[in-house]
Amino acid sequence: MQTITVLGATGSIGCNTLDVINRHRDRYRVFAITGHRQLALLAEQAKACDPRYVVVADEKDYNQARALLSEAGVKTELLCGQQALEDVSSAPEVDAVMAAIVGAAGLMPTMAAVKAGKRILLANKEALVMSGALFIDAARQSGATILPIDSEHNAIFQCLPTDFEYGNLADSGIASLLLTGSGGPFRERELSSFTQITVEEACHHPNWDMGRKITVDSATMMNKGLEFIEACRLFGTAPDDITVVLHPQSTIHSMVQYVDGSVLAQMGHPDMRTPIAYGLAYPDRIDAGVKPLDFATLSDLTFSTPCAQRYPNLYLAIEACREGQAATTRLNAANEIAVEAFLSHQIGFCDIARVNEQTLNKLEPTTVSSLQQILEQDRRARVTARNVIRGLG
Ligand code: NAD
Ligand code: MG
Repeated sequence: MQTITVLGATGSIGCNTLDVINRHRDRYRVFAITGHRQLALLAEQAKACDPRYVVVADEKDYNQARALLSEAGVKTELLCGQQALEDVSSAPEVDAVMAAIVGAAGLMPTMAAVKAGKRILLANKEALVMSGALFIDAARQSGATILPIDSEHNAIFQCLPTDFEYGNLADSGIASLLLTGSGGPFRERELSSFTQITVEEACHHPNWDMGRKITVDSATMMNKGLEFIEACRLFGTAPDDITVVLHPQSTIHSMVQYVDGSVLAQMGHPDMRTPIAYGLAYPDRIDAGVKPLDFATLSDLTFSTPCAQRYPNLYLAIEACREGQAATTRLNAANEIAVEAFLSHQIGFCDIARVNEQTLNKLEPTTVSSLQQILEQDRRARVTARNVIRGLG
């Protein structure tokens, strides 16, 4: 029996995680679920999965959450605030933590789980993009296991040899990692009409059903950029060892190219329950509720290279990855501010890349070596990005 905390239970990954757990009540027990704002859903989830704790991220939501839990007849203990998120991630009873809070808000609770040596099911890519080597070093020191849930990294993980040594592609005969991406909803849209892209259009992904932030990131391909950085950190690879491949059907979730010419690919339906089930059960395999691929109807798997004019954010992220940790921390922060501003109709779709680029250009290069310095760079980049946005208006 594994005891699990689900950070960000009310989100897309969180709901899919509870769905898989629910199929295997004999294997998994839920220790805590956490949420932010979607309090009615959180209360409903508490009733269904009977955790030890329910946590609301914002202390201001405590009373409303308390009332909703009572209405639902749930007696689970309710906690609130940042410290509570960290406590339920690091409690001695917990074996595994699903890190599925979106954005920088997930960093500290995920870090708490890493430092406590848990099995981390890592969906919250922004935490790793922000903190990079510190995150990986903390896991090494505590003995935490990091299992990638992001479908591409999960696919690569599945295609690597079991004795793969962090950062050592050569000894495993690996030539490169091939990171696939669908190209989002605007892969074929006329470039001249990009300024007219609406929030509604950007929030509709052709293949995947996800939260709004990552859906917009997929439309700009910043998501692939963050994943590029994530792959470098997770597997210890150099930027030159990773190639981004456009694959609109999202059937192949990423690949590993070997020096002998073999390419190992992981395939499946675009359903996050597959990587979630893999992470939960690793090294076993469990039913994820996902139907098998039907090769009789599968056809036309296509591949191409993403164009820099269409996807400037992707190339900004690759550049930041080459530059170093401070740049990726800043880029992640700027992008969170830019996407929020786009979602609240303050800026246009093309402005997202503008805000990101100008924020990076306005900040002097620096190095970061502690969590405190990382949080400081995150804060500065947010202030700068907000100033850039004011300048655009
Ligand atoms: P989502 O927006 O659907 O859910 C986000 C969750 O985080 C919610 O439970 C929300 O309550 C919580 N949250 C939001 N702000 C918070 C705050 N300030 N403090 C505490 N909790 C907060 O997002 P999602 O699509 O489930 O994505 C979650 C993470 O997983 C993201 O980092 C995303 O990049 C990554 N991811 C998602 C998918 C996917 O298919 N959805 C795939 C790969 C990776
Ligand atoms: Mg992904």
